[in-house]
Amino acid sequence: MTAVCVGRRLAGTGARVVLLDGAKKVGVKILVAGGGRCNVTHHAVDAQQYAGGSRNTIGKVLRRFDVAQTVAFFAGLGVELKCEETGKLFPVSDRAQTVLDALLGEVRRCGVELVHPWRVGAVEASPDGGFVVGRAGTDEAFDAARVVLATGGMALPKSGSDGGGYPLARRLGHTLTERCIPALVPLVTGERSRWLTGLSGISARVSVEVRSGQGKRLARFENDLLCTHFGLSGPAVMDASRWLTEARGRDPGASLHVGWLIGESFGSVDEALRGLGATRVLTWVRERLADRLARSLCTAHGVDPMQPGAQLTKDARRALAHALVEMPVEITRDRGFAHAEATAGGVLLPEIDPGTMRSRRCEGLWLVGEILDVDGRIGGFNFQWAWSTGAIAGASIVADLESEESLRGESRADCAGSCPHAKKYPPGDSNPEPAD
Ligand SMILES: Cc1cc2nc3c(=O)[nH]c(=O)nc-3n(C[C@H](O)[C@H](O)[C@H](O)COP(=O)(O)OP(=O)(O)OC[C@H]3O[C@@H](n4cnc5c(N)ncnc54)[C@H](O)[C@@H]3O)c2cc1C
Repeated sequence: MTAVCVGRRLAGTGARVVLLDGAKKVGVKILVAGGGRCNVTHHAVDAQQYAGGSRNTIGKVLRRFDVAQTVAFFAGLGVELKCEETGKLFPVSDRAQTVLDALLGEVRRCGVELVHPWRVGAVEASPDGGFVVGRAGTDEAFDAARVVLATGGMALPKSGSDGGGYPLARRLGHTLTERCIPALVPLVTGERSRWLTGLSGISARVSVEVRSGQGKRLARFENDLLCTHFGLSGPAVMDASRWLTEARGRDPGASLHVGWLIGESFGSVDEALRGLGATRVLTWVRERLADRLARSLCTAHGVDPMQPGAQLTKDARRALAHALVEMPVEITRDRGFAHAEATAGGVLLPEIDPGTMRSRRCEGLWLVGEILDVDGRIGGFNFQWAWSTGAIAGASIVADLESEESLRGESRADCAGSCPHAKKYPPGDSNPEPAD
């Protein structure tokens, strides 16, 4: 995104924009995203859908290059997006390849040099300004006047995003969060909740809550849950995962609770079960949940599903009511970065100017995307963060270059289309804002 925004301005000027990627195959995450359809963004993006750094700062960035501008940017590349019922936006082609082809096509069209596999092993700031960028494991290096770190996080490391950008950022003066943990990741159940793995393939719309050891609610999501052979997956669980892992880092008693009946309370379910009379417990539960799930839920909580409601002991009835509205699930671990869709943690946000994505620690450096301490929910929010930060950095670099003697008075090269961000925020309006 940044390379396109800068490349469009520099095309034909003789200045070079070089895009280095350590991966043999570039843009793998775009291809695997959204089940191969690439969930490019969401129709309602706001800071509340993100965690990590300050939501105030995140909001400023997202408003600076918003969903409408993202849609216009892709339309300009010939990629029409459609909004589905869930609010997620996908290419009308339903093919992630369309998105990647459009971006790479524009990179080529603007004369950006895409060099890969070329893994960066070092970025050293020169005493007289600029940087020396070195290739990992070799003596190859070249000078660069400006550097943008867009190395992502650690999710799906085989894609090339394996955390290799973190030491580069640190060496250039940046600080990382104490921990970087998998986000949007499935969870593995322990012995006490092992029965759920027998329901592999069953999904239900639920509420998932993360609570502290003291029982305080830390996060809550309503969405689908999927039972799998190892434990739990599905968007509600994946959204909750980073909150559980983060909480457990300081509070081992933090726990996950599933509400199988959204909108019901312990009291309302207990009362309904009490009024069943000769009706079987299973009959009532099955009206609300899939048959296999209903049976297993009863059995796992010591209730014979074929029992008439009137025969339930008070303790059994209360145990079932409790399980139906806020069942604690024993989680032993998450499935790790290999199965995660994002990284929680990264370069501290206050070290970046949200108006430009410029480093506040190192002159001539910009940081964009998942390398920063920002992670979004499932639904296109992580890509939106990447598009927004990438476009803002691009516009800022263009503004920087235009203030230099070399580009003054030069006409824009024959490279139709400019970064939509540049239209809304003309060069020079970098609006630096203080850290918060
Ligand atoms: C399976 C999966 C599905 C996803 N689905 C969605 C979705 O549908 N919607 C959504 O919004 N988000 C989704 N995401 C998240 C989204 O893909 C990321 O948040 C986004 O790609 C981050 O963009 P980025 O440019 O910051 O980093 P990345 O896309 O991770 O790109 C970083 C690049 O830097 C390169 N690199 C790293 N270190 C070096 C180095 N030292 N030298 C040279 N190159 C280096 C890597 O090879 C990589 O190409 C998904 C993620 C995964 C894993």
